[in-house]
Amino acid sequence: MIHILDTRQLGRPGIIAATALETSDGLALFDTGPESTFGTITGELHLLGAAPADVRHVFLSHIHFDHAGAAWQFAELGATVYVHPRGARHLLDPRKLIESATRIFGAEMERLWGRVGPIPQERLRILEDNEQVQLGSVEVRAIATPGHASHHHIYHWDDCVFGGDVAGVRIGGGPAIPPFVPPELQVEDWLQSIDKIRVLEPARLYLPHFGVVENGVGAHLDALEERVRRWSQWFLEQLRAGRDPSQLVPAFADYEAADLLAGGATQEEVEDYERADPSHMAVTAALRYWPKFHPEAIGAGGV
Ligand SMILES: [Zn+2]
Repeated sequence: MIHILDTRQLGRPGIIAATALETSDGLALFDTGPESTFGTITGELHLLGAAPADVRHVFLSHIHFDHAGAAWQFAELGATVYVHPRGARHLLDPRKLIESATRIFGAEMERLWGRVGPIPQERLRILEDNEQVQLGSVEVRAIATPGHASHHHIYHWDDCVFGGDVAGVRIGGGPAIPPFVPPELQVEDWLQSIDKIRVLEPARLYLPHFGVVENGVGAHLDALEERVRRWSQWFLEQLRAGRDPSQLVPAFADYEAADLLAGGATQEEVEDYERADPSHMAVTAALRYWPKFHPEAIGAGGV
């Protein structure tokens, strides 16, 4: 059985999920949500007749706080936390991660994400690309899938994939969009990662933001790929035209909102997309990506 646990971060449903899989080796969680919603997830587990200590395995797609923030709480209760090799040191010692997030979120840090503590070495297990973990009769395989973050894994078991952020954000009746965030956005990697999900042909694709895609995983991935290409191209054109970065934030917010509405989202859902994946982050991400990987594409002078 698989359960989608809603963190209801800041009181809003349907934005950030933790996904729970029942196995004969205890509960496995795919992402935990932020630490600020550990209590909510505890309540959701109780509704399933379980307690936080019944979570024996925590598979992290990546270490951003909305996905991994509560992992250390489960580790304190004895769970093993699985992570990409490049994410491990920040879980062992989260101080740098907290510093860089504090630069972005400032005084909002605690309200948004809660407290972040270290995970002891003995509770942490690094998974290499294609490494498998046997949980009773279920075999969970990690697949390296950079693009959104360099240290991103998806997880594959049976006919299911837990897609993390590289598999896109899809809220309510809205379309699949790529969460472009700094500092590791890499468009070519992202496209390859989408192909890696495609070849698995999953029947169900679980999204941290938000829920499950069934009957239409292929169409979801096609729509996601189209936006990875078109949105990154939109940013390139803006840079080529010499648009000022400060103008890009409202310009992209408008561009994205129009795209979401055209893709079937309601006005309220547009605001939920913004909560799950703030549009200004895409601007910062793209302003870093293009000059770093394709300075020649921007044209003489660069940025
Ligand atoms: Zn993320």
